[in-house]
Amino acid sequence: MFIGHYAVALAAKKAAPRTSLGTLFIAAQFVDLLWPVLLLLGWEHVRIEAGNTPVTPLDFYDYPISHSLLGALLWSALLSGIYYAFRPQPRGALIIGLCVLSHWILDFLTHRPDLPLTFSGSTKVGAGLWYSVPATVIVESLLFIGGIALYLSVTQTLDRVGVYGFWALIAFLAIIYCGNIFAPTPTDTNSIAIAGNASWLFVLWAYWVDKHRALVTESLGPQ
Ligand SMILES: [Zn+2]
Repeated sequence: MFIGHYAVALAAKKAAPRTSLGTLFIAAQFVDLLWPVLLLLGWEHVRIEAGNTPVTPLDFYDYPISHSLLGALLWSALLSGIYYAFRPQPRGALIIGLCVLSHWILDFLTHRPDLPLTFSGSTKVGAGLWYSVPATVIVESLLFIGGIALYLSVTQTLDRVGVYGFWALIAFLAIIYCGNIFAPTPTDTNSIAIAGNASWLFVLWAYWVDKHRALVTESLGPQ
């Protein structure tokens, strides 16, 4: 799953309006921000296998630190705790934790059974939405549209960056998503790991855009 994770972050703005979209992006994508680093370190592994599922040629055969259920729970608690240490807002910290965990849940929905439950156990799960390209695209697109609508319902633009910067970010995410689905099979895993780090660009972009949008007053609930 790709834009589905960003959809969760966009939607989470409604639940935690005082938290920057950039921070919500980090939370919802944390597991995938960690993964390329662990690949480069040689602590996790992926291999290319054309047709692994119709959506991706990647065989995620070893990624328990980033993508096990136990790992996701631990990262969720850690990020929630770090957030609370810097900004003691229980609501924001809870939403950050849930966003981190949502990544595993959405990956569970899409991946074939390659997601481990623990760091060393052999049980792997995944509901396999990726076996159908149309179903994957429909589900992710609906999530994405819903996320955009929720984000727009709690923020209003302050200037041009708030409008054009935001829609450029959305368009870019959509283009990368199409690229991921329809691109030719990559040839080496190292370039996958290096490209994976480009997700930080979206995080910075989201911080920038969010600064140029204000909260609509009704969205300001308790902290
Ligand atoms: Zn993932």
